[in-house]
Amino acid sequence: MADTFQAPRGTRDILAPESERWHVLVARFAQAARQAGYRPVIPPMFEELAVFQRVGESTEVVRKEMFLLAEREGESRQALRPEQTASVCRMFAQHRPATPWKVFYSGSNFRYERPQKGRYRQFDQVGAEVLGTDDPDVDVEIIALAWRFYQQIGLRQVTLLLNSLGDGEGRAKYVAALKAYFDAHLDALSAQSRETLAINPLRVLDSKRPEDGEIIAAAPRMVEHLSPQDGAHFDRVRAGLDALRIPYELAPRLVRGLDYYTRTTFEFASGALDAAQNAVGGGGRYDGLVADLGGPAVAGVGFALGVDRILLACDAEETFGPPDSAVDVFVVATVDGTDALELTDELRAAGIGADRAFDARSMKSQMKAADRSGARLALIIGSQEQESASVALRPLRLGGEQQLVPRADVVARVRAMLDAAR
Ligand code: AMP
Repeated sequence: MADTFQAPRGTRDILAPESERWHVLVARFAQAARQAGYRPVIPPMFEELAVFQRVGESTEVVRKEMFLLAEREGESRQALRPEQTASVCRMFAQHRPATPWKVFYSGSNFRYERPQKGRYRQFDQVGAEVLGTDDPDVDVEIIALAWRFYQQIGLRQVTLLLNSLGDGEGRAKYVAALKAYFDAHLDALSAQSRETLAINPLRVLDSKRPEDGEIIAAAPRMVEHLSPQDGAHFDRVRAGLDALRIPYELAPRLVRGLDYYTRTTFEFASGALDAAQNAVGGGGRYDGLVADLGGPAVAGVGFALGVDRILLACDAEETFGPPDSAVDVFVVATVDGTDALELTDELRAAGIGADRAFDARSMKSQMKAADRSGARLALIIGSQEQESASVALRPLRLGGEQQLVPRADVVARVRAMLDAAR
């Protein structure tokens, strides 16, 4: 016998009912985003490697975790996307849409990580971005969109962590101060952090290695080095969150996993998940990113939320279970002919979820299948019903008695019964 293949390491097969929950989650997000004036974009799954290098050359994601595609002669090197913000900005640079450009997306990303619960090599995100304005109210709108979404699906243990990374001169001065500080404590830093320090001192703050903890805790803080403009921007963001009653914690060392952030940065941590993988989303401002990708100098802000992890958090908080059965009725036919085929088709055409059994099973076996399907009503055609051109309606998850209905009236009667039960 041939070996059974397994899903590749770091990937998962998502079967029902998990897959159903997943679809509802993404649809809910799309609805929330559209309601706030965001429109969908569908970026490619892969880009020129240089797109990702441009936006994250000092990050682990881009340096070590890229899924590179085989090089083909005469073409530039390509890579599967590790995230979608870079693609959205590349799209903006290429198409130059009118601003503010408010977009949302969903889909898979690929990072060659060490897999564990809540950390996969293929994982999904939903996200939203606004390009073309640096109005701090947009930062608040973006954060509120994510926050209300978590609330809407029933997550109560999410904490918003907030920081500002500043921009321009203030940022440069801070990075210099930070570098001087870490240089003075070089011996106490982990080898990895010393390596990171040489490339981007800010990213050392992101180290989760225990040996770096103490040094990082005492490091200078960006919020104390903000320029007057960046400070005013941050104050306005905080005032906006207060006005919307969205609680947050200041997180002075939050720098996030990608290089491109400026000013506002934030992360959503779930108290219901293990600390190592508790980020259920994050984002921030990236005012230089579009220009870095060859586009105009426009500001941008956005977030990405991890679908896999949100669902783990929903499990932990016992909220957002799978949706109800996909079908309302199940057709059971024990007669020859095309009765089941026709009735099922007619129901579906009328917008009623319908399924049926195959392989000419016994009545008992078909009724079992009807029950398993979760349908609320079984429509039964035996020889008697066939002869009298009628169908027996048997409630499964509905009140009432079994009744015989003329074949011509079945769809209307089913519709009335389902409507009455809603
Ligand atoms: P990032 O793009 O790294 O800011 O990630 C945004 C969100 O995506 C995180 O908060 C996680 O919820 C999720 N995420 C990132 N990487 C992974 C991964 N390898 N597996 C599962 N979820 C992830």
